[in-house]
Amino acid sequence: MAYSFTSQSSQRATVRPPSAVQAVEWRCAECDKLLGVRHGARLHIRLQRHNYLVSLPVEATCYGCGTPNRT
Ligand SMILES: [Zn+2]
Repeated sequence: MAYSFTSQSSQRATVRPPSAVQAVEWRCAECDKLLGVRHGARLHIRLQRHNYLVSLPVEATCYGCGTPNRT
Protein backbone atom coordinates (compact mmCIF):
# COMPACT_ATOMS: atom_id res chain seq x y z
CA MET A 1 0.00 0.00 0.00
CA ALA A 2 2.84 2.42 -0.81
CA TYR A 3 1.09 3.85 -3.89
CA SER A 4 -1.06 6.45 -2.16
CA PHE A 5 -0.33 9.26 -4.68
CA THR A 6 -1.32 7.45 -7.89
CA SER A 7 -4.91 8.73 -7.67
CA GLN A 8 -3.69 12.34 -8.16
CA SER A 9 -2.08 11.75 -11.55
CA SER A 10 -5.24 10.22 -13.01
CA GLN A 11 -7.04 13.59 -12.73
CA ARG A 12 -4.81 15.23 -15.36
CA ALA A 13 -6.22 13.16 -18.19
CA THR A 14 -9.70 14.56 -17.73
CA VAL A 15 -8.61 18.23 -17.96
CA ARG A 16 -9.16 19.51 -21.49
CA PRO A 17 -9.21 23.06 -22.89
CA PRO A 18 -12.72 24.29 -23.66
CA SER A 19 -13.48 24.04 -27.36
CA ALA A 20 -16.76 25.79 -28.05
CA VAL A 21 -16.50 25.53 -31.83
CA GLN A 22 -15.84 22.47 -33.92
CA ALA A 23 -12.98 22.38 -36.41
CA VAL A 24 -14.15 21.84 -39.99
CA GLU A 25 -11.78 21.27 -42.88
CA TRP A 26 -12.12 23.61 -45.85
CA ARG A 27 -11.17 21.80 -49.03
CA CYS A 28 -10.92 22.72 -52.71
CA ALA A 29 -14.17 22.09 -54.57
CA GLU A 30 -12.29 20.61 -57.53
CA CYS A 31 -9.34 18.59 -56.31
CA ASP A 32 -10.16 18.25 -52.57
CA LYS A 33 -6.87 19.75 -51.41
CA LEU A 34 -6.94 21.10 -47.86
CA LEU A 35 -7.05 24.92 -47.95
CA GLY A 36 -7.64 25.64 -44.27
CA VAL A 37 -9.44 24.63 -41.11
CA ARG A 38 -12.55 26.51 -40.12
CA HIS A 39 -13.30 27.27 -36.46
CA GLY A 40 -16.75 28.81 -36.37
CA ALA A 41 -16.50 32.25 -38.01
CA ARG A 42 -12.71 32.04 -38.37
CA LEU A 43 -10.45 30.15 -40.69
CA HIS A 44 -7.02 28.86 -39.75
CA ILE A 45 -4.59 28.77 -42.68
CA ARG A 46 -1.15 27.24 -42.43
CA LEU A 47 1.36 28.11 -45.11
CA GLN A 48 4.82 26.64 -44.60
CA ARG A 49 5.98 28.29 -41.35
CA HIS A 50 3.22 30.92 -41.24
CA ASN A 51 -0.07 30.61 -39.43
CA TYR A 52 -3.03 32.81 -40.29
CA LEU A 53 -6.31 33.16 -38.45
CA VAL A 54 -8.70 35.09 -40.66
CA SER A 55 -12.35 36.07 -40.48
CA LEU A 56 -14.96 34.80 -42.92
CA PRO A 57 -15.85 35.15 -45.71
CA VAL A 58 -12.57 34.01 -47.24
CA GLU A 59 -11.63 33.53 -50.88
CA ALA A 60 -8.60 31.53 -51.91
CA THR A 61 -7.18 30.17 -55.13
CA CYS A 62 -6.26 26.51 -54.83
CA TYR A 63 -2.51 25.97 -55.02
CA GLY A 64 -3.07 22.60 -56.64
CA CYS A 65 -5.48 23.24 -59.52
CA GLY A 66 -6.02 27.04 -59.50
CA THR A 67 -9.74 26.89 -58.79
CA PRO A 68 -11.09 29.89 -56.87
CA ASN A 69 -12.78 28.79 -53.64
CA ARG A 70 -14.92 30.71 -51.22
CA THR A 71 -16.18 29.94 -47.73
ZN1 LIG B 1 -7.87 22.45 -56.23
